Amino acid sequence: MLQDIQPHVYHNEYKPAAPDGEGIILAYKERKVLLRSEAEDSTRILYPQFKELADKIPGIYENYTYLFTIDECHYYLIPEFDEALLPGYSYTEISRLRTALPMYRAFAGVTGLQLHNWYDDRRYCGHCGHPMKHGEKERMMYCESCNNIEYPKICPAVIVGVTNGNRLLVSKYAGREYKRYALIAGFNEIGESIEDTVRREVMEEVGLHVKNIRFYKSQPWPFSDTLLMGFWCELDGDDTITLDENELSMAAWVTKEELPAETDISLTREMINVFRLS
Ligand SMILES: [Zn+2]
Repeated sequence: MLQDIQPHVYHNEYKPAAPDGEGIILAYKERKVLLRSEAEDSTRILYPQFKELADKIPGIYENYTYLFTIDECHYYLIPEFDEALLPGYSYTEISRLRTALPMYRAFAGVTGLQLHNWYDDRRYCGHCGHPMKHGEKERMMYCESCNNIEYPKICPAVIVGVTNGNRLLVSKYAGREYKRYALIAGFNEIGESIEDTVRREVMEEVGLHVKNIRFYKSQPWPFSDTLLMGFWCELDGDDTITLDENELSMAAWVTKEELPAETDISLTREMINVFRLS
């Protein structure tokens, strides 16, 4: 899955370090990230380093935001700049990172995007409108005027594998380009336990009751600021599907033998495969 970058190690602890020439730069323009392909293998990606830009962007060693560390390498966010400064690099759609290699660089790029979006959306205090400042000891933004504190935006959501004997409930989203099988999914609402999110989403999307809800695994999904939590559960009672056509274009019970053998970086795909091979 996206976060499985072993043997590389992602250090999320907030210990800001000043960049040196080897520091890795993540720069974004809307939902695009600045990268280039390796010369020998176009599936492999590279991000620029400070030493490549030191004489092209004045003040680059002062105007940065520390993001995180992978292995011994520090990653930094710097403001959007003209890609023409770095021949070979270009702002590339973030979806490229779904298949780019090595995985740890793809993970860095998409995790950096989530932080970039959060910092960008929190430049001003949502309470009083004053400029926000970066925390020094932890990853947060604060307002000196009214003491408002903001932590990174992470939205909990569920992915639900509903089973009925040898059959799994699969669906396809309405109005999206993504046409492969998905599982029931949705965001947790305020005042709701995550188990109740599972029950509610299954009822809303396909009109089914479920029982025996078990947690499977979680996955950070920075593409949508989400922490996905995967659950298995069993059908309880009638198996007749009542489709929410605003959310889904189809939903159906399919047997293990009917499920396609596909893999990618998502928890959804892993869960479908776990069921297929069970
Ligand atoms: Zn404020």
